[in-house]
Amino acid sequence: MNLLESTDCIFPSQTSAKPQETLNALRFDNRFVSELPGDPDILNRRRQVSGACYSLVKPTPVAAPRLVAYSREVADLLGLSTQACESDAFAQVFTGNRLLPGMQPFAMCYGGHQFGNWAGQLGDGRAINLGEIVNGHSRRWMLQLKGAGPTPYSRTADGLAVLRSSVREFLCSEAMAHLGVPTTRALSLTLTGEEVERDMFYDGHPKMEPGAVVCRVAPSFTRFGSFQIFAARGELDVLKQLADYTLRTDFPHLGEPSPEVYLQWFEEVCRRTADMIVDWMRVGFVHGVMNTDNMSILGLTLDYGPYGWLDNYDPDWTPNTTDAAGRRYRFGHQPAIAHWNLAQLANAIYPLIGQVEPLQAVLDGYAGSYRDAWRQMMARKLGLNAFEPATDEALITELLAMLTLAETDMTIFFRRLARLEADDLSPATTGDEALMSPLMEAYYVPEQVTPAVRRRTGDWLRRYLERAGRDNISPRTRRRRMNAVNPKYVLRNYMAQLAIDKAEQGDFTLIHDLLDLLRRPYDEQPEKEGYAAKRPDWARRRPGCSMLSCSS
Ligand code: AMP
Ligand code: MG
Repeated sequence: MNLLESTDCIFPSQTSAKPQETLNALRFDNRFVSELPGDPDILNRRRQVSGACYSLVKPTPVAAPRLVAYSREVADLLGLSTQACESDAFAQVFTGNRLLPGMQPFAMCYGGHQFGNWAGQLGDGRAINLGEIVNGHSRRWMLQLKGAGPTPYSRTADGLAVLRSSVREFLCSEAMAHLGVPTTRALSLTLTGEEVERDMFYDGHPKMEPGAVVCRVAPSFTRFGSFQIFAARGELDVLKQLADYTLRTDFPHLGEPSPEVYLQWFEEVCRRTADMIVDWMRVGFVHGVMNTDNMSILGLTLDYGPYGWLDNYDPDWTPNTTDAAGRRYRFGHQPAIAHWNLAQLANAIYPLIGQVEPLQAVLDGYAGSYRDAWRQMMARKLGLNAFEPATDEALITELLAMLTLAETDMTIFFRRLARLEADDLSPATTGDEALMSPLMEAYYVPEQVTPAVRRRTGDWLRRYLERAGRDNISPRTRRRRMNAVNPKYVLRNYMAQLAIDKAEQGDFTLIHDLLDLLRRPYDEQPEKEGYAAKRPDWARRRPGCSMLSCSS
């Protein structure tokens, strides 16, 4: 029996239990479904879907929904009370067992370039959109379950998600939002009460793992690949419908669609993408799978898979073992990959514009706008008033080279750098060792801090303090500025793994603790200082901490 078609649905007439009333108060307005062409075939079987932006499909009911955690902030965005979030109905609805009135579940059709190669139709293989709500401030939010069962786009996979990857997506979405990085959000993390088989490193060692569902929330989940699929198939009428819909819904300030407006739209997508990448580079985030199907048209961080956080600063690092050979998606390559992905989007929307040159010009502009935004960001990380090319280009280049000389924790380095007090020291006459002492906490291997490293670091610190001094701001102001952009707490890979280890034993406390900790990533939280420390040595090579695959 399909529960979704039974009377198990929550109907507005069931008004006895308050939390249900509150869930029922969600107001749905499913424009994606009502305004765009859908798949006429309503059978949930795997196939190529042509001429349609989505297929109607229901989540697969599960055995025993159980709420693990929810985000209070996202609940607030949606207008859901604590009582509603802690009700039984909430766990039922957000694992996909029940539908609320007004929900119209569907999976989106999209394609994409994976690791540089066109992969054809991908689509929501394990994501099911429940519908769009309009909150009390007239803002629109799409609710999407990840791991709620197969769809026509599931290809050979099962449509499910396991607890470990769901914990990672849930915590990281919220951590990123609190860091001020554009991202999709996560309302809830639930267990399904069912087991899912996964071969974590694709090496012939499959294991049963707890099944889980994350309810993701964003104004839209439209991807670069959502446009690519229609261009690749020559379905230009659908391409135009989706582009016009996106303009109307997500970029209304740009006005009525026309070739000029499509160009302005592309320019804004380039700018938003650049800003998002600048933020990733600021906080040390590595997405891990920047395929074009994982690029949001809104410039939101999307699809948290084998992502990771830099512990020691290493531009060549990627957490994704599936990408170990080419390291296409390594930290330092992210700006260039975003550019490449934008070029694929440009190719896809070219038929709407019909001229190569203006599209190429906008695309070329990405490099400059990224560079300018990155420079300003680096100046802010250093607490400077503004980036001054004459001095700061060389200062930053040397800083980044210096950070790779000895394994240096990026997060700790910038927090400690803010403590340096030029007024107390006389940099010109202070020795390297004394100057560096606030920073020593950032180094992983003390023996790597050789006399040569000390000399180079000391020289840089003197240059930096001299440069900062010319801005005429007090050390306290500089520190305050720096601490507002250099987080003290990030979701270090090992921390997520500890939360997963406990959750797999049925203990969810660390998930709640980390969710709470990461609400205020820039604040000193003295009682939680342990989470601001370097990655422990045991985590250096442990799967889940330094190595992750696409298996999730
Ligand atoms: P990802 O690597 O997570 O971005 O996924 C790439 C494509 O594979 C997307 O179309 C996903 O929907 C699909 N996919 C990933 N995992 C599964 C799964 N377990 N079941 C069905 N489809 C999946
Ligand atoms: Mg994806």
